[in-house]
Amino acid sequence: MTPSDRFRREHPLVEQVEVLVPDLLGIARGKRLAVDHLNGLLEGRHAMSTTVLSVDVRGENVDDSPFVEAEGDADRPLRADPATLRPAPWRPDRALVLASFTEADGSPFWGDTRHTLAALRDRLRARGLEVVAAFEFEFYLLADGEDPPRPLASSRRPAAGEAPEVYDLDRLAEVDEFLDTLATYAATLGLELEAVSAEYAPAQFEVNLRHRADALRAADEAFLFRIAVRRAAARVGLRATFMAKPFADRSGSGLHVHLSLRDGEGRNLFGETPEGEHWLRRAVGGLLAAMPESMAIFAPNANSYRRLVPGSYAPVRATWGHNNRTVAVRIPAAPPAARRLEHRTAGADAHPHLVLAAILAALLDGLDAGHDPGPPARGNAYDRGPPLPLDWGAALERFATGPALTRHLDHRLLDLYRRVRRCEYERYRRRVPDLDHAWYLPVY
Ligand code: GLU
Ligand code: MG
Repeated sequence: MTPSDRFRREHPLVEQVEVLVPDLLGIARGKRLAVDHLNGLLEGRHAMSTTVLSVDVRGENVDDSPFVEAEGDADRPLRADPATLRPAPWRPDRALVLASFTEADGSPFWGDTRHTLAALRDRLRARGLEVVAAFEFEFYLLADGEDPPRPLASSRRPAAGEAPEVYDLDRLAEVDEFLDTLATYAATLGLELEAVSAEYAPAQFEVNLRHRADALRAADEAFLFRIAVRRAAARVGLRATFMAKPFADRSGSGLHVHLSLRDGEGRNLFGETPEGEHWLRRAVGGLLAAMPESMAIFAPNANSYRRLVPGSYAPVRATWGHNNRTVAVRIPAAPPAARRLEHRTAGADAHPHLVLAAILAALLDGLDAGHDPGPPARGNAYDRGPPLPLDWGAALERFATGPALTRHLDHRLLDLYRRVRRCEYERYRRRVPDLDHAWYLPVY
């Protein structure tokens, strides 16, 4: 029996399949197909336009899209990944599956970000190392349709946004309808939500996803999680946002990545091997060295950079430290089996697959080249250490200028990413926002 037959037998109500392809920003693009096409989709006999990989955040083609210019907006085969096939939690007649572009002969397409991450995972596997990764998201809940958007008001504190709500359990109880819906969706999708908390800012929440000993699976789940949160919120009449800094005077939302490596004997390389400390330092050294050139991935859009300010618990410098939230790479206090690093630079708006790919490229570079991370920061690390590019244009200038990304990611993907982000940057930069009128019109 084919995987498609088995799935259809187990889920006879399913009539349509949502085919999801992460674009270069990790936004889901795809189609809804009649379930009869499932088999062909799993065998790579379906096709879609690769132009979805050269659009800006609004879905508009970039100026010199290689797919439109050179290829006439040609289709490429799309192969669904059977490991990601599952019933859609929002409707009994629907399933969903993640898919990747391939070349005509079925080999991985260089522009597909799931393939990019899988290739890095496999490079580490070839060295006998398995990546163990866990994603941790922050996001806000808003009342739907409010203009301007505001954090969801608390029934106990009607003036929304008056005081922090960090670790406030009553606040969680107030949004139980949303959280219950999310828990149901997560269960159907096979996502394990390890912890849910009220974050620092009013109506800001944090969810920790369970670690996975497969980098691609961890990123696929992070990608699905964001969709599940947005749809669960919509189901209960709310709105969720993963924008990195939706409100100027409130905390930004981060995407933290917890990472360790398992050796061939199943030991945690950082905590359970005699050379653990040595490897941990090399890994941290690699992550810090590659951070400036990877910023355009961790902070992909104009809004992302508003999150990166001193004192916000989001990093502004390439620093590391033990049990310290003011640094970019934190080593959480943990027993040897759970010894890991937490990469804290990406915003909640970043593409999970590319974030993890950039981290793994940096990690490989660190293991090989042995960059020394220097002494760990103690206390407040906002005024010490090498600065990160905190401006979108500067980050794009630095993008992929070091050895980590150029050595470990396909240069055609790096070129495409640079071109797509730079075009959006230029389009954004050429606007004249209302604030210019408010500040400058009265005096000039
Ligand atoms: N909200 C912070 C950020 O933007 C992180 C706060 C925390 O340590 O959980 O990354
Ligand atoms: Mg947090």
